[in-house]
Amino acid sequence: MKRSIFLGIALGISATSFGQSPVTSDPRLAKNVIVMIGDGTGLAQWWAAQAARPDSSLAVFSMADALGLSLTSSASNFITDSGAGATAISIGEKTQNRMIGVAADSMPRETLLEFYKKQGKSTGIVVTCGLTHATPAAFYAHVPSRYMAPEIAEYFYQGQVDFAVGGDYPLFSEKRLQKAGYKVAIGLDEIEQANCPQIVGFYSKDKEVPSMQNGRGNFLTRSTDKALTHLSQNDSAGFFLLIEGSQIDWGGHDNNSEYVVQEALDFDRCIHRVMDFAKQNGQTLVIVTADHETGGMSLVDYDTEHTRASAAWSTHEHSGIPVPVFATGPASQLFIGTYQNAHIYHKIKTATGDLNEEISPSVPFDPSVHRGEIH
Ligand SMILES: [Zn+2]
Repeated sequence: MKRSIFLGIALGISATSFGQSPVTSDPRLAKNVIVMIGDGTGLAQWWAAQAARPDSSLAVFSMADALGLSLTSSASNFITDSGAGATAISIGEKTQNRMIGVAADSMPRETLLEFYKKQGKSTGIVVTCGLTHATPAAFYAHVPSRYMAPEIAEYFYQGQVDFAVGGDYPLFSEKRLQKAGYKVAIGLDEIEQANCPQIVGFYSKDKEVPSMQNGRGNFLTRSTDKALTHLSQNDSAGFFLLIEGSQIDWGGHDNNSEYVVQEALDFDRCIHRVMDFAKQNGQTLVIVTADHETGGMSLVDYDTEHTRASAAWSTHEHSGIPVPVFATGPASQLFIGTYQNAHIYHKIKTATGDLNEEISPSVPFDPSVHRGEIH
């Protein structure tokens, strides 16, 4: 089937599903885009979280309308890192491991966040890691290495991100943030009360945002709530929001199932909130996916007394297995199927009506797109 025909059918289905009360001129298109990345979250991580909540369905499984698979290899490696994984989604091209917002040729490319900002949308980032970490950085910075934190922070002062919440306070200058037009808020209370066109909020003045097990509480969902309220003020043009469940990956690196489960459940509560917003709003496309899987996690038994799946791990690093993509909202049907991670970018732009070209046919089942490995 020709891709263009497929897109037509996909959008047609979407129009039927979401066109009951058309509020945009074209109800098949999304006005708002929310990309939710569970770092290191493969199907086993999701199912371990579900196994810990046997009496209720996770939002990620019960509230999404479409399910696909993203192939995560980078331009340099079969197994991607978070820099290349997030950059593939943010710029629409696979790049080399460790790179941020630049293509494999090291040249900067416009990110989705920058594109939508230029289109007049408001932009936001909410993460449970530092704001200079690889995933958030890949949406606003352009550097050859994820480890160039000071250079990444420099990009933040350009003011492309209207609302940001995370960690890494010590890496930023409050004075420079204020000069760039930001209200700087420290802690959840200040974040929730902040009222300024541009806001940057930090969990605390520490560098790190704590894990759920160390008392983060409902910081992610409440920060996301504030982001949705704040960004929705741009009623005419809409918004682009990136949310990351950052620490699911850290639990995977530790081969610590409980760490993974607590972080994935927290991320799912946030997904529930976002999907509720999207369903009520009717013009919001939500994508929930991962940059890669971490730990080679598999579930090998179930402890009924503690309602926990028993995990086996095959690595302390990332693995090369495809990861699920869950989508809901206008044009979510575009995300059904198996495709390269970089195509998520093209699908999002198609869903907002900003890409009329056909999506180039993918080579979805060729795991060797990383040929010519550069380590
Ligand atoms: Zn990782």
